[in-house]
Amino acid sequence: MSYASPRTLIFGIDGGCWEILDRMIAAGVMPRLKKLRETSAWGDLESVVPVNSAAAWSSFLTGMKPEHHGVYDFLAWMPGSNRRTAVNASWLPRPTIFDLLKERGPLLSLKVPLTYPAWTINGAMVSGLPTPDDEAAFTYPGDLAAKLNPLILKHSAGRSWEVDSEQRGMILDQLDAAQISLERMTDYLLQKYQETQTCFVVARDVDELQHFFWDALFSQPGHDPFGYRPRLEKYFLRLDAYLGRMLDWAAPEGKVIIMSDHGFGPVEGIWHLNEWLRSKGFLSLRVESKKASDREGLSWSLRARFALSRRLLKGMKNLGLSGDRLEASLEKIKLSGLSSADLSGVEWGSTLAYAGNVGEEYLPIYINLQGREPQGIVSPEQYLQIREDLRRTLLTCTEPKVIAVHRSEEIFDLQDGRYALAPDLVIQTATGGVQSDFNIRTHQLFEPSRYRVACHRRKGMFLLHGAQVQPGHGQASLLDIPATLLAWLDVPIPGYFDGQPLSRFIPTLVSGTRHTTETAPAAQREFYTEDEEDGVREKLESLGYL
Ligand SMILES: [Zn+2]
Repeated sequence: MSYASPRTLIFGIDGGCWEILDRMIAAGVMPRLKKLRETSAWGDLESVVPVNSAAAWSSFLTGMKPEHHGVYDFLAWMPGSNRRTAVNASWLPRPTIFDLLKERGPLLSLKVPLTYPAWTINGAMVSGLPTPDDEAAFTYPGDLAAKLNPLILKHSAGRSWEVDSEQRGMILDQLDAAQISLERMTDYLLQKYQETQTCFVVARDVDELQHFFWDALFSQPGHDPFGYRPRLEKYFLRLDAYLGRMLDWAAPEGKVIIMSDHGFGPVEGIWHLNEWLRSKGFLSLRVESKKASDREGLSWSLRARFALSRRLLKGMKNLGLSGDRLEASLEKIKLSGLSSADLSGVEWGSTLAYAGNVGEEYLPIYINLQGREPQGIVSPEQYLQIREDLRRTLLTCTEPKVIAVHRSEEIFDLQDGRYALAPDLVIQTATGGVQSDFNIRTHQLFEPSRYRVACHRRKGMFLLHGAQVQPGHGQASLLDIPATLLAWLDVPIPGYFDGQPLSRFIPTLVSGTRHTTETAPAAQREFYTEDEEDGVREKLESLGYL
């Protein structure tokens, strides 16, 4: 293999969508993207279900649908328990796309989600979200971490997303710091690994930025209540300059893929699905007695509160909290402690169905099925009937307005049953802007979103650029991206890949052929230690995933 062949760049924009990028191009702050697009194939990229970064990036890394790689979210149920655990890179069936590309010259992977702990590749890797802490095994080779740590701007306040509109400037400070850190690491790594042939980088923070500033990004100049628009434009200007540097690295005849894991849209409200299920008799809660016997639930809930207090204390200075306001915030913690973000309050012995994850656009529900769930009560014989009852009941829901309830087999390919942990029902609402959670003991069933102004949508974006690319506009599936990348680099596509090379945009690629016949690999899943788990949960919580 000749290392003199053109370089390849895969530039991920987490949560990226043309709705925002077009606005930024129109505002004149993304000149490199604008120019590149004129000679590229580009369009909407349909993401996977569930619509979240963990499932989608896992699909990118493995070439498989979520039901085939088994990662549906950042958190998954611990086998045989009522506890959820943070997923990590060991959950991905290997070989991943990095492993498949190992003969194609050294590669660099920078902040691609679901790559912690970093593993041995031909090149270097810096893990992306979620990582337990910044000192741990987040690099390959391991000694790289010590070199990179001084380049990372640390925010004394930590991260917090529970801030009201007028305080959101704090989030922007943090996102700016993260982008600067990414740029510094990139400069260092491209200098150190000059022989790099393929570079993967993910601008992860666009996702978070859109969660909180979607409305400001859509505001007209002069009608931006908190004045965030100029700073947001500056952020995208900086991102575009970074993209430009990466394009220069790959240029002039390099192969370029720009892609998002999912798109975004405005949030209509938060649906507390477990409370809704309770109101319809599908879920029961235990009588609250704070029994000491409930050690597992208690310890998690205590830990969650500890993490919250720790974060609050860290954030105090930045928020300018003192005296009365601190008291008020602590009071809020006590109150929020009444609703529980874990499911330890569920009376499983009389619960037929539950929500176990956050849902965005496609909202998941599980049946408490015997043999699969730790305390399942629905027998396989009752399953279809109960699922249909629930499905029909969901279809009568008007707040939010439910327009479709899909049975698992209508969404997921459950043939091989390897990871039969797919949701049993998936709900779609009229606007697509409903986010569901799994909280219990909430006061309302459906309420406005207090902090987030936007949430994920299935429709993301892609762009392909290179000598063989036929410029134009079109659609693609996220699953086609890894297949395209392999085909473009003359690497055989494993037979179990779920996508096709995008030959309609790159005619030299042959669609529909499978070069290998291996069956899909299975993952050797490993679990975090309790300390690591705490670190990951704190991080995910600070990003609003818990
Ligand atoms: Zn994402």
